[in-house]
Parts: sequence; structure tokens; C-alpha cells
Amino acid sequence: MFDKINDKLNQAKTKASETFEKSREHASKAYEAASEQVKSRLAEPESVQAWCSWCGNHTEHVRTVERTVGRSSYQCCGCNFPTAFCRYCENMAKASSLDVKNSDLSGGSKAGKISKFFTDNWTNEFCSEHDGTIPDFSKAHDKISDLSEFDELMKPRVTNYYDIAKKTVAITGGAAAIGTGAILAAPGIAAAIGTTGLLGAASTGTAISSLSGAALTSSALANLGAGGLAIITATGAGLGGKAGFGIAHNYFKDIPDYKFVRLRERSASTPDKNHCVIVVNGWLSEEEIKDVRSEEWLEACQDWLKGLRGKGDYGTEELWHLNWEAENLHKVARWGQTFGVNGTSALTIAKAMARGSKAAATTFGKGAGALSVAQLAVNNPWHPAMLKAEKAGALLAEAIARTEGKTFTLMGHSLGARVIFFALMALATKDKQFVKNAVLMGGAVGREETESWLAASSSVSGSIYNCFSENDGVLQFAYQLAAAGTSKPAGLGKAVPVAMNVDCTEFISGHTVWKDNLPRVLDRISKTQ
Ligand SMILES: [Zn+2]
Ligand SMILES: [Zn+2]
Repeated sequence: MFDKINDKLNQAKTKASETFEKSREHASKAYEAASEQVKSRLAEPESVQAWCSWCGNHTEHVRTVERTVGRSSYQCCGCNFPTAFCRYCENMAKASSLDVKNSDLSGGSKAGKISKFFTDNWTNEFCSEHDGTIPDFSKAHDKISDLSEFDELMKPRVTNYYDIAKKTVAITGGAAAIGTGAILAAPGIAAAIGTTGLLGAASTGTAISSLSGAALTSSALANLGAGGLAIITATGAGLGGKAGFGIAHNYFKDIPDYKFVRLRERSASTPDKNHCVIVVNGWLSEEEIKDVRSEEWLEACQDWLKGLRGKGDYGTEELWHLNWEAENLHKVARWGQTFGVNGTSALTIAKAMARGSKAAATTFGKGAGALSVAQLAVNNPWHPAMLKAEKAGALLAEAIARTEGKTFTLMGHSLGARVIFFALMALATKDKQFVKNAVLMGGAVGREETESWLAASSSVSGSIYNCFSENDGVLQFAYQLAAAGTSKPAGLGKAVPVAMNVDCTEFISGHTVWKDNLPRVLDRISKTQ
């Protein structure tokens, strides 16, 4: 009886072990087949032709370290920097380090060490197109034949994952998310955190946006000028190339209505067929904003068109209008008119603001519209407008440097003059002089910084004309308030002697009458030469 049971049991055991062996064999075969499949899918070529996120060129990338887990490391044959495949496309992302162990983690705070580790070792997950740094690799070095092609040049061709991540980071508190496992659930977002700057690898775009954030909340706006200089230095170096393209693209997103509009074709009689005039507004009245909103540019720019008519070459050359921040420029104008504060009290307010003194509680204006000094500081639309003007200037420089075979004369009023001044500073980094003359009227730009004026004037083959009026109450009030009393506007008095100073006090009674008096201003300029 028991023998029988034993026999059965043994038979069953043998059967079971056979089945087990068979299934093991089957499983291992399946595993091998699957892993082969995975391997072949993951295999990255020894060399590849692709766009490089470092140099912006379509180059050969040679594999330097082969990995089965994670992406292999490559090196760009054009710029020699380390690269890796972008998570989302065939372009190459920047790879910051080839050897994780090389990161020096001695000393410093814990957060500092983490940040350093990632700075040294974090491989950028996205190519420059996917992190939103540049709109399109293939256009990074492109030239345009005229200014109307500029917005086409700035159009992105892919989704910007970095932008999506930036919003998520704000919600999760950035680096904190790393320890929670959230990154496993959302690898795309984790990847992008690496490029937002939280982990140390700050892109210029991020640096600038946090800079403007700081400048806007700070009551002492003295650092506005220094910040502007940083923007321009960063942009200028890369003008017309990949780096400038990247920065310009980020600024372009910040000024959605940035657009060059041709107001007038050149006449057949124009002597220099490749010379154009660009006019830039910086203060839009109720009437002008109405026209700009309905895109009736010609209506909105009648003052420029009329003023230039019959004024020598300016009356016959191709004429462009640069549209930027129309809504905010209108706010700037309205704000300036609401508060009938004179220049002297603006300076008092500015100083009170800078000191943070009790005077900050004093109110200005009447009735419901009355604002305290602190509110004035925060609500002053000149702060954001002044920063935007710097960005608009960097974009103008980028557009000018990319327009083939053309030279320009730039004319700007109010904050428009600021746009021009910053464009000139950025263009100073180029050997070639693209700009002939610059005419600044009622310029919202500092008049005492010799270094900046020297830089700006080095990029014009002619002169920078600083047209000023001592009667400009708006500049005296709004500009000084925005600059916390640390800078004097060029539109209110003589700038450093680098500029050709044109005193228009005699016929310019205030900030808003400059464009109406354009012919007289131009006459005075011709007498200054
Ligand atoms: Zn490269
Ligand atoms: Zn990509």
C-alpha cells in the first residue's frame, strides 16, 4: 500500500521537476529573447550625426562611454563638449560630466553639496529645443532678409518641456520633490528640474526671470542698472549666433506683441538703398493704443511719418516701427498723468522708498486713487517697463545683427529710447557697425554712466543724439521714482559728453510733445553736427 503511494509520489516528483525544468528553460529563453530585444532597442550607435545643444551645429557625435543602463556618453566633434541623446528626440542634449566620481563634495552645506553634485553630474535630459532654450536648431545661425521675418525666426518647432516643468516645480517646491519619489512618477518633470536651475544648472533665462523678480519686489531699485548690464552682456556675446538666439527666444516669449511693422517702403530716389530707419515708441496715448490694438499701425504712427516727411534721407528711406509692450506703455502713460506729483517730490518719495522711512506711509493722489509711497513703488508700471525695455533692446540687437546687408538709424521716444540704448550696448560686442545714427528723445535712460555710453557709442558709425528738455516733468517724476533716485534721466539734461547733446528745452514743454515736434528736433540735430 505504502509502496504504491511512494511510487506515485516519485512519479509526480519526476513529472514536476521535468515541468519545472521545462518551464525554466522556457522562461530563460523568453528572458534572453526579451533582453536581446531590449538591448537592441537601447543600443546607441558608436557615432551619430545630430544637432548639438552646446554649439548649435549639426555635427558628428562620437560615443565615449557605452552604457546599458542610462544613456551612453558622446562627444561633439565640432565643439568637443560631452553630449547625450535627448529624452524626446534624436538631437543631442548637453552632458555635464563623464565621471560621477570626479565631483568634489568636501566642505560646504548639505544643500550646497547636493547642488554641486548635480551641477557636476546631471546630464541635461533635453536638447536645447525641448528645454525651450532655442526655438529651432536649424535656424540658430540664420540670417533674415528684412525685419518682418524676425518673428518667424523666433517661432518654436517643438513643445517646450522645460516650461511645463517650471510650473510643476513651483507647486511641489522644487528640490523637495526629489526625495519623495515623485520623480519616479514623473521622469519628464524630474529631468526638467535639472535644467531649471534648482539643481544648479541655471539657464540664462531662469537667471534673468529671478533677477527681474527680485528687482520688482525690492524697494531699493538701485540694482536695476546692474541687472540690465548683466542682461546685455549675456546677450551681446552671442548675438547672431546660437547663444544669442537662445536668450533672444526667451525674451521674445516675455514680450508677446514684439513685432516689426513696415510703415513705408523706400522711395526710388533714396541714395542708400540698404539703409532703414526704425522708430520705437515708449509712451502710448489713449488714441495710439486704440490703433495699435486694432493693428492699425499706420494710424498709430502718423506722428513719426509726418515728422520725418521732407527731412532729407529720413523722408525717403524704408521706415519700420517696432511694436513692443503696447498695453504696458499705455499704462505707463496713464499712470504718469494720474499722479500730478512734481519731480522734486518724486525724488523725496524715491529717497523715502530707498530708506524705508516713515515717509513711506504718506499718500499721494486724491480720493480713492490715493496711494501710499509703498504702493506707488509697487504699482509703478515703470519698473516692469524699464526691464522689458532692456529685453526689447536685446531683441532689437539680435534682429539687427541678423538682417543681411542693411544699416539702420534708430529713433526712440521715452522708454523707446531706452530700448535703443540697450540695443546699442548689446551691439557693442560686435566688430561690425550696423547702426549709423541713434536719436533719443526724452530718453528714459541714465545720463551719467560713462562706461555704458562709451559702449553704446562704439556701435554707431555716426552719433548718438541725446535730445533733452529740462521741462520734462514726467521723466523727472516717474523715472526718478522708478530708479529710486539713483539715476538721472538723459531726456532731462545733458548726458556724458560721449553723446551729442541736443537741448530742446526751448520748444519741448513736456514729455508728451516730443513726436509732435519731430521736425524741429531734427532741425536742431542738423545744427548740432
Ligand atoms: Zn557641439
Ligand atoms: Zn529634443
